[in-house]
Amino acid sequence: MTDRQIQSYRPGMPLTAYDLSDRTAFVTGAASGIGRASALMLAEAGAAVHCADRDEVGLAETRALITKAGGTAHAHPLDVSDRAQVKAALEAAGPVHIVVAIAGIMHTSSVLETEDADLDRVLSVNFRGVLHACQEAARTMIARGIRGSIVTMASGAVDSSRPGLFCYSVSKVAVVQLTRTLAAELGPHGIRVNAIAPGWVRTPMTGRHAAEQQEQIESMMLRLSPLARLGEPEDIAHAVLHLAADASAFTTGQILRPNGGVSMPW
Ligand code: NAD
Repeated sequence: MTDRQIQSYRPGMPLTAYDLSDRTAFVTGAASGIGRASALMLAEAGAAVHCADRDEVGLAETRALITKAGGTAHAHPLDVSDRAQVKAALEAAGPVHIVVAIAGIMHTSSVLETEDADLDRVLSVNFRGVLHACQEAARTMIARGIRGSIVTMASGAVDSSRPGLFCYSVSKVAVVQLTRTLAAELGPHGIRVNAIAPGWVRTPMTGRHAAEQQEQIESMMLRLSPLARLGEPEDIAHAVLHLAADASAFTTGQILRPNGGVSMPW
């Protein structure tokens, strides 16, 4: 160990670096899949969690799961594509230290089949929904002097040219660019901004196919991963926890790829 490392070493540091008991988190897409798993994990680490989603039933279930486990949760039914609704929910939440913008939708069509309305709809949720949460939260973090952490949800689709995923990929590439630019702009305020680009994860979004097609997709995903297993929402929630917590205090403007190694040449 160098002198510098010895000076910065504190016993117990690895554990306290994941302790969120003095933090408040705002999580969009918290009614289902990756968003629900992330809200539960942040609550388990001690954060008070404000759960936002347009699905009121799912939102109530997530809140009940957190409360049952002894955590603190609040529900904000909203549409992330409506800036005024996002702003109002953040104002109601009060000082927020962690923002995780997960809400998203899938759309499949080839470039030539894509209507303007398809692209508008996907961008309004997957990109503008993330932008609204980032902008509104960052403004109040700066005003309150909060050195917070913002986590955005991209996708492995940013590295792929798979036919049919045009609108979705464009929206997620935009999220990556937003994340990097925002990280550069907010760094001087002590606010970190990072994206997660998950591989294929078992959630309602990916489980919507007919049984035979679903089986084909899942066996293809198994073959693509050196780990030979499918991703679970908790795999991504662990990445969210890492980027939200002080454990990643020196990490900003990065794209974390929890994907079972599918993007690695092997
Ligand atoms: P999911 O469908 O289970 O959850 C998405 C949630 O977003 C739902 O609760 C839905 O109600 C909410 N939502 C959608 N539009 C909304 C809107 N306009 N306002 C508020 N809430 C809205 O899907 P998931 O698989 O958990 O996906 C979560 C995120 O992770 C998405 O951004 C998705 O693109 C991304 N992602 C998923 C995978 C995967 O394989 N599942 C891979 C890469 C990235």
